[in-house]
Amino acid sequence: MDIRIIPNFKMDTEMISLIQKEQERQRCQLRLIPSENYASREVLSAVGSVLMNKYSEGQAFRRYYQGNFIIDQIEALVKKRALKAFGLDSDKWGVNVQAVAGSIANLAVYLGLLKPGDKLLSLYLYEGGHLSHGWRLPSGKAVSFTAAFFQTSYYHVDLQTQLLDYEAVEKRALEERPAMIITGGTSYPREIDYGKMRRIADEVGALYLADIAHEAGLVAAGVNQSPFPYAHVVTMTTRKTLRGPVGALIFARREFIDRINQAVFPGLQGGPQNHSIAGIGVALHEAMRPEFKEYAVGVVANAQKLAKGLMSKGYEIVSGGTDKHLMVVDLRNKGIGGKEAALALEKANIIVNKQAVPGETSRFWAPSGIRLGTPALTSRGMREKEMEQVALFIDEALRNYQNVAVLRRIGREVRDFAFQFPAPGISG
Ligand SMILES: *Cc1c(COP(=O)(O)O)cnc(C)c1O
Repeated sequence: MDIRIIPNFKMDTEMISLIQKEQERQRCQLRLIPSENYASREVLSAVGSVLMNKYSEGQAFRRYYQGNFIIDQIEALVKKRALKAFGLDSDKWGVNVQAVAGSIANLAVYLGLLKPGDKLLSLYLYEGGHLSHGWRLPSGKAVSFTAAFFQTSYYHVDLQTQLLDYEAVEKRALEERPAMIITGGTSYPREIDYGKMRRIADEVGALYLADIAHEAGLVAAGVNQSPFPYAHVVTMTTRKTLRGPVGALIFARREFIDRINQAVFPGLQGGPQNHSIAGIGVALHEAMRPEFKEYAVGVVANAQKLAKGLMSKGYEIVSGGTDKHLMVVDLRNKGIGGKEAALALEKANIIVNKQAVPGETSRFWAPSGIRLGTPALTSRGMREKEMEQVALFIDEALRNYQNVAVLRRIGREVRDFAFQFPAPGISG
């Protein structure tokens, strides 16, 4: 089997064998977790480079240590590419490329622009919100650091349509009078009306943060709507649909960027991960090529095809479909829990995660749905025809979720199927 080794090291056989096994897993399974992808070999090379040997606290050309002549040029280049990839004017927008992950990026926004105890208003977690938007359990227990330091309140989707109800969001905003309104999440499958959200924020004097962690690549490609005309601040991870390394970008209107830079360093972090920052630059370069636009169009077309394929087998898709790269399958009509479904699919080499659905009444660790996404499969060159096959695999596995022999047999078929599609960074 052709498994190339990244990085190239010879001595630590124990570690190299585990890395090889993970490469093989990524190649022979169908990876449908919407927040995962395959970074290119170029991105992997940047991340595995000597750039990580350098300390460079501070901003480009304003460092605390010497020897940053090259690192400065790298960071400046990545910032330039980041603004260009999202069509932004550097007179109006600044960008910070140093936050190590999306959750830390959001924390930096709160630290820079709010006071401890200020109020956030965000999408309810079980309907697609994110932990870093201030999640606390219904019991009141703060789960994320954000919830311990800020007051949090939530808005909801309409339980009938499963879509955001902007009148209800406005009502919540008027009741709560938050300092910041946040949109974005991990499983809301529809476009968000960013213009409406900004109007609501203005009405109550709140700042508006659009977190596009999931759909960053789709926005860069112009396949999903852009929040930039409306939001004060936009955060995103770089590892999801943008197909870069673990990392984050924080874009802010000029008047806010200095406070955000200070919040990242020295507020929250020390020396930046120069290797990841370079990897982000490589990913942005890739994202500005015409092939990436085709990729992003394919991601959404594939998600819509997969949703249709599953609906034709009697599965309920939250909100009846998707505008994006992901969907949530509500399994309540199939008499199988989300956790059981995810475990059965794993036996069949199909990797998904369990997921709460709107109006969820089960406990969070045993929710009623699963979440599926197409970014990784599309990176392997799969198209709508393949999505029909993927829907058939999923349906057959779920119909036989208690039959290990059948699941294993499907798993072998899935493996043979997956091998036909090169995995970027591994076999492509
Ligand atoms: C993935 C995600 C993040 C960031 O996650 P990290 O794992 O910290 O990079 C932030 N917000 C949303 C909405 C996300 O989906």
